[in-house]
Amino acid sequence: MNRTSLFAACGLAALVSCANEPAGAKKEAASADVKILENLTLIDGTGKPAAPGSTIVVTDGKITYAGPAAGAPAAPAGAVRTDLAGKFAMPGIINLHAHLGNVKGVKQDQTFYTRENLMKQLGAFARYGVTTAVSMGSDTDLIFDVRKEQRAGRPTTTRVFTAGRGFTGAQGYPSTMPGMKGVPYEVTKNEEVEKDVAENAAKKPDLTKIWVDDHLGKEKKISIELCKAIIDNARKHGLNTAAHIFYHDDALKLSEAGLYAFAHSVRDKPVNQELIDMAKKKGTWQIPTLTREISTFVYAKPHAFLKDEFLLRGADPEAVAGVQTPEFMNRQANDKNLAKYPVFLKTAQSNLKKLADSGVKIGFGTDTGPPGRFSGYFEHWEMELMAEAGLTPMQIVQSFSAGAAEYLGATDLGTLEVGKWADLVVLGKNPLDDIKNTRTIELVMIAGNKVN
Ligand SMILES: [Zn+2]
Repeated sequence: MNRTSLFAACGLAALVSCANEPAGAKKEAASADVKILENLTLIDGTGKPAAPGSTIVVTDGKITYAGPAAGAPAAPAGAVRTDLAGKFAMPGIINLHAHLGNVKGVKQDQTFYTRENLMKQLGAFARYGVTTAVSMGSDTDLIFDVRKEQRAGRPTTTRVFTAGRGFTGAQGYPSTMPGMKGVPYEVTKNEEVEKDVAENAAKKPDLTKIWVDDHLGKEKKISIELCKAIIDNARKHGLNTAAHIFYHDDALKLSEAGLYAFAHSVRDKPVNQELIDMAKKKGTWQIPTLTREISTFVYAKPHAFLKDEFLLRGADPEAVAGVQTPEFMNRQANDKNLAKYPVFLKTAQSNLKKLADSGVKIGFGTDTGPPGRFSGYFEHWEMELMAEAGLTPMQIVQSFSAGAAEYLGATDLGTLEVGKWADLVVLGKNPLDDIKNTRTIELVMIAGNKVN
């Protein structure tokens, strides 16, 4: 059974792909690839209300019309029309915090970082409507080849952005984690920072990543001074810096130093007004990664989500089996800090609500990829946790569409507007009624290519 067709229960897949090549149409073969999605309700990601009776025209992968059916241009010969009556089109999900390529099952190691393994993970993201994934500091140079190929044409799977190699201190977290030694740069002085940031920047990453955490005192944490040097050096190369943070006080100092984003939530205490004001003044983004917290405790006991059909039809079976082995479960069950992790999640959720209400920019991200964090599936769970925190479905949609594209400076991604790539998800139910409806995926397109 072809796993990629599992979401196409409604027959849309057949409709689109069969109509793709009109018989005997030599002339059309050389002309534009035009796809017309009709009679849908448009949720364009800009914050505008859902618009029923809409049409989207996709020409060579880009949106050339999105609006009321009455205003749509006449269909050119050879255009492929798809009737989406009763369906909802939303922008593809942009995940601002992922890790690509270095996990097999529940084992993490850079020797796994092959094109095949990377494509397998991108395929999982794509099936779940995650059309862009930003890999945060654990890549090999292969990522730059894949990104180059994608940007030269019309990708047929999830787009990649990358921080290249991230930064930590000497023997700092996460270089001490299984399979992570040698993955980040470990820096101890400014000269090393200068040299290593320059080496990474020469490969043209999309941003820079720092890990600033001691894992509840278990690990060595990079100094704020070295972080400042990284932020400043990266800026000289035109790069923003996002940081893995845990502690409130690190977040405050890093924001003050010009950090672009908190790549996780503050989890040790409630965010105070000083931090809120600083994040607003400095334009520091918050990427909550609430499902990352879930992954720290959910495997200690059998959990119902592992029987969820939405997981089982799209996730890697080896990973699903792996998280249910005694070895994996016991590691969590025996963690002396286990009871703290659900509390960190609650703190992260209330901080998210407070930051969002205060006008701090919220981007969408999950930290999927590492063992126990299911690429694609967790993104939908993340949205539920954001809703549980008190964000509206519209805020959540904007965090993974217009907001995420703004974060990336990607002017051709993020919303379903003219001039953008047709990276979109067609749903059976309205996500603005209930964010859980993002699970009703019927069609995913990346650059106008059907991917599921
Ligand atoms: Zn991460």
